[in-house]
Amino acid sequence: MSEYFTLDLIPDPFLIVQKDEIIDINQGCAELLGLKKDELIGRHYQDIEPLRIFCEKVPDAVRNNAEDFDLVIRSGRHYEVFILPFRTADGSEFLRIALKDISNFVGLEKELLKRNKELIIINTLSSAFISSGNLDLVMENLLKKVLLVTDFSTGWLMLREGESFHLKTQRDLSPDFISALELGALDSLCAEIIGSHEPLYVAEASEICRYEILRKERLSFLTALPLSYEHDVFGVLFLSLKGGRTESFNFDLAALLSLVGNHVAMILDKIKLFQETKRLSITDGLTGLYNSRYFYKFLDAEIARSKRYGTTFSLILFDIDNFKKLNDTHGHQAGDDVLHELARILLNVSRETDVVVRYGGEEFVIILPNTTEEDTINLADRIRTSVEKNVFLMSHSGGISITLSGGIASYPKNAGGVKALLNAADTAMYTAKRSGKNKVVCFRGRISE
Ligand code: GH3
Ligand code: MG
Ligand code: MG
Repeated sequence: MSEYFTLDLIPDPFLIVQKDEIIDINQGCAELLGLKKDELIGRHYQDIEPLRIFCEKVPDAVRNNAEDFDLVIRSGRHYEVFILPFRTADGSEFLRIALKDISNFVGLEKELLKRNKELIIINTLSSAFISSGNLDLVMENLLKKVLLVTDFSTGWLMLREGESFHLKTQRDLSPDFISALELGALDSLCAEIIGSHEPLYVAEASEICRYEILRKERLSFLTALPLSYEHDVFGVLFLSLKGGRTESFNFDLAALLSLVGNHVAMILDKIKLFQETKRLSITDGLTGLYNSRYFYKFLDAEIARSKRYGTTFSLILFDIDNFKKLNDTHGHQAGDDVLHELARILLNVSRETDVVVRYGGEEFVIILPNTTEEDTINLADRIRTSVEKNVFLMSHSGGISITLSGGIASYPKNAGGVKALLNAADTAMYTAKRSGKNKVVCFRGRISE
């Protein structure tokens, strides 16, 4: 046979066997077996250790006189083994055995699976961002998803506030452990983890014994991911196993956890940014009170709520008396200082449920949910007298006194819609101005939309 055709033309390891005896073999196969061709031809394949393993399915193929196929891992490489029986014209039976090294494909497949898993993780974690209106819920959701993709059973998230760490969300922790965390039992460990500047902290049983709180919780494996964004470490995410389960720590797990840590940090950072932007969009920069944008939204919602439940609410519109004169006399900065301090007084005197707004330049509105006109008059007068008595200390101009004029309107007594209600409060406030200022006036009558 080899007179006409040399098996060396076949790039993959190849041999021909007849009744277990190697009758021809190519160079590639000889090299794979670490022997010379001459040393192999004529020998039984079972006597050559690596071949015996490659050819485990040969007896089956011979018995069934059918093609067979096997996958063999040897010295860390993956081979496909094809066993192909054939018969020559004179009736002699042979087996062709072809080996194909598929290690690169296996590597690629593994890489693809890994990438696929990474994509799944990123997708899964990103979906926690969708409910970003409520940061607590997002963090709870995020931790749930992290545990899902990493196969850990227990976890908790600590965010740094100054020197201490606050428990933000947890899963599968005992009430005692939660209380201990809230009292700062692991603050030093958090600081140690962050201080180490390592991307990942791993504590196996011996390390866990160092902390009684971890031992009592029956944690058997603990890993922690410092969460940082743009060099700012703002928290630590702990993931753990309980009751004897441990994880063999390897490169794949480290890579997976580092991906998870980076992604969680990025999501939390984006949410903080999103919430800060949202907060700024409804906040007045000078006083920190709500601005008119929030005011209109809240008022719409309050009218709808009061309509639905048949309740009443009121609003007070305050305007500083003679503020232009104050600016002209003491300067714009002094005016700003007064606006700032007045905002503090309004917040202090009003109730928790009231919404205090800087409506315009020196005009402020307070919305009082579930409050009648009568109760509103009391609060408005308390505010008016507090302001009148207050000495506003200016950094450059000494002490200044101011007075307020206020107008009150109530829903549904004076009006049934936003515009009409504001119009009513404004009209009442101007009545107070015209009748000498430093007064609060209630709107009389009803304005239809
Ligand atoms: P009245 O008693 O009738 O309300 O008189 P007034 O001077 O308070 O009213 P007017 O509407 O004539 O003037 C309001 C002033 O408020 C004009 C403006 O310079 C001042 N003002 C508005 N916004 C600001 C601000 O942000 N800072 C300072 N310092 N002044 C402001
Ligand atoms: Mg004004
Ligand atoms: Mg004014």
